[in-house]
Formats: sequence, structure tokens, C-alpha cells
Amino acid sequence: MTELVIKDLHVSVEDKEILKGLNLTIRSGERHALMGPNGNGKSTLLAAIMGNPKYTVTQGSIKLDGQDVLAMEVDERSKAGLFLGMQYPSEISGVTNSDFLRSCINARQEKPISLFKFIKEMDKAIQQLEMKPDLAHRFLNDGFSGGEKKRNEIVQMMMLKPSIAMLDEIDSGLDVDALKIVSEAINQCQKETDMGLLVVSHYARFYEYLHPTHAHVLVDGQIVVSGDQELIDKIDKEGYEWLETEYHVSA
Ligand code: ADP
Ligand code: MG
Ligand code: MG
Repeated sequence: MTELVIKDLHVSVEDKEILKGLNLTIRSGERHALMGPNGNGKSTLLAAIMGNPKYTVTQGSIKLDGQDVLAMEVDERSKAGLFLGMQYPSEISGVTNSDFLRSCINARQEKPISLFKFIKEMDKAIQQLEMKPDLAHRFLNDGFSGGEKKRNEIVQMMMLKPSIAMLDEIDSGLDVDALKIVSEAINQCQKETDMGLLVVSHYARFYEYLHPTHAHVLVDGQIVVSGDQELIDKIDKEGYEWLETEYHVSA
């Protein structure tokens, strides 16, 4: 059982406070949907958890099974089992997808993964995501379409088997078929690993596939309301305006 516990988190970007006391706990096997109007700090939260240096934590704590995540270097956080599938994955020319992944995996374990096992797992992930078989040998995200980049983030997740995976608008830019393929891969990966999931998306359709166990709305740097599927449905129907009257927050 893994537990990521975030308490009273305050995060600033370029001296502007974006997160203003955020609390959230994610455990193995849970699926958390994180919603909220654009520009309110969803990506900032994920970046701060992963240790992106642009985001300064000024107050609060992030603990993974009691360990102080904020005291860890960026690479230590991913070795500890945290994973972020990004909204805009970066392209790295000169490093192939398979070399990149193999070094990520090997950095996390004492004995390097056998080439045989690695190739078998990577082929399986590429097949499951219905990607082109030459994907392994192409430079990381170089010349990938938007949809291919997103699928590739899921290939990485499947190979790295994180204990807590965070996905930032991974569904944006996916067509209906791709959305289904990606969702099934996420579900399958969670079934196999029992990872905890934190999924940022605006779309009820994506959540229909993922069946979140928890849902949260982030407004102005705080989670202002939490619930379950009912909350997702309400936002899908009514947007965020009702928050203003019910919770006195302006989105
Ligand atoms: P969301 O993901 O909810 O749309 P973000 O976390 O991306 O929101 O952004 C929250 C606020 O922080 C916005 O005002 C945004 O402009 C600002 N912000 C986020 N990242 C950066 C950055 N790297 N540099 C400057 N401002 C940023
Ligand atoms: Mg945004
Ligand atoms: Mg964002």
C-alpha cells in the first residue's frame, strides 16, 4: 500500500502564489479526478510534486509513505515511484525511446533489466497502445504527432510501473478511438500494479472509461470541493459557475 499525502501545500511561480494551502491524499488503487477551470493550479500541483525547479514550495508538506518528497531530488522522486504523464511531453533528439526507457528502469533497480524482458514488455505496451512498431527505435517524441506523444507517455507509465501516476490532460488531442485505447491501457496498468492515479481532465467522457473513485475541483489554488462521479456529472452539465453561489469562490 502506497500513500501520497499532501498537506497545506503552498507553491509559488515567479514570486506569485499559485497553490494556497492544498490538501490531498492518494492511495494505491484509488483513481482521483482533478478538475477546475484553466489557470487555477492543476499543472502547478503536479509539477511541484515532481520537483520541477520553476515551482517553489513555500509552505506545507508532501509525503510518500512517510518519506519527505520535498527533500528528494527530481530523479529520486521518480525512483520512489512517482510518475507524471505530461500535457506537453518534450522532444529529445538523439535519444531513442527504448534507450531512454531502459535507463529510467535501470536507474530504479540494482540489477539492470534483461534485454529480453525489456523488449518483451516494450513490445507488449506498444501493441496495447496500437502504436507503430518502430516506436522503440525512434528518437524520444521527435516528430511524434500530438496523439502519439500522449500514447507514448502511457507506454512509459506501463514500463515504469509507478506506485502513484499523475496524468495531465493526457486525453486532450486524442480522437475517440485513441481515447478508448489509452483508457484501457491505463486501467490495465492499474489492475496489474495497483498504482494510485491522479488524473487531470476536463472531459466526462474520459472519466467514463476510468471510473474515478474520487473527484476534486481546484479553484484559486485550493481544492474547494471533493466528491465522486456525481460531482463529475454535475460539472459536465453545469460547468463551474455554481461554485460561486454554493462555495463563494469565483472561478
Ligand atoms: P491549470 O493547470 O489549472 O490550468 P496552471 O497550474 O498551469 O493551471 O497555472 C496556474 C497559474 O500559474 C497560471 O496563472 C499560470 O499562468 C501560472 N503558471 C504556471 N506555470 C507557470 C510557469 N512555468 N511560469 C509562469 N507562470 C506559470
Ligand atoms: Mg491549463
Ligand atoms: Mg494545466
